[in-house]
Amino acid sequence: MQLDVIGAGPAYSDRPDAIGSSYLLRSGDSSLLLDLGQGAFARLAARIEPSGLSAVAISHLHPDHFIDLVPLRHYLRYEFDPQRRVRVLAPRELGKRLDSLWGEPGFAAGVFEYQAQAPGECQIGHLSVESARVRHTGDSYGMRVSVGSRSSATRGLVYSGDCGRAADLAPLILPGDDLLCEVSFGPGPAAPGAEHLDGPAVGALAASTNVGRLFLTHLQMGFDPEETLASVRAEFKGPVRFVWPGDQLEL
Ligand SMILES: [Zn+2]
Ligand SMILES: [Zn+2]
Repeated sequence: MQLDVIGAGPAYSDRPDAIGSSYLLRSGDSSLLLDLGQGAFARLAARIEPSGLSAVAISHLHPDHFIDLVPLRHYLRYEFDPQRRVRVLAPRELGKRLDSLWGEPGFAAGVFEYQAQAPGECQIGHLSVESARVRHTGDSYGMRVSVGSRSSATRGLVYSGDCGRAADLAPLILPGDDLLCEVSFGPGPAAPGAEHLDGPAVGALAASTNVGRLFLTHLQMGFDPEETLASVRAEFKGPVRFVWPGDQLEL
């Protein structure tokens, strides 16, 4: 499996390269996009043909994780005759949110084949996606993606989405999996009630679940990456780094 980091930013930032969350996973002819936040569509389209995606999986309904479904909708609707369709695995309310943005019922239903996120496993091409609820906002999910099912013992990638309680991710992680995890509050402490993670919490999760490699993302404005890494390394002795837009990683 190959990971292309399209965007790895938080909800807002003064960093010019802080594109909203979006991660492309590919294996053979299967391609799965995890989230599509602000500014990510153009970068995605520069990398692959978006209408060829096997699916887009949305972790939760905060705009920094789904708002560029709007340009994807326009692209599928207006660049092709007949319009093309892409499968979208997302919290149940997504269709309503998109329709209300545009003020038109059915705005995106013509081009998106919605499938409701739910705890459990589903198949996207030959990628297997296992979703689990995490505490963040309403209906929020972390996901494990692997080639072949969870029981096939191939190494997977676990993506945190946004998450306010590290323990919610633990059931998804098998020893040796790579973990792509939000670290919104840098070296910490996370603000009470913010429902995001900080470095010590992420490091402790990675250590207790025995992850292979730890990839950090979604760092909020004002926090220093080096200080954040130091706070993670105090808990987790394995390989850890931030990911940034343009990074390509073999998993
Ligand atoms: Zn976010
Ligand atoms: Zn969020």
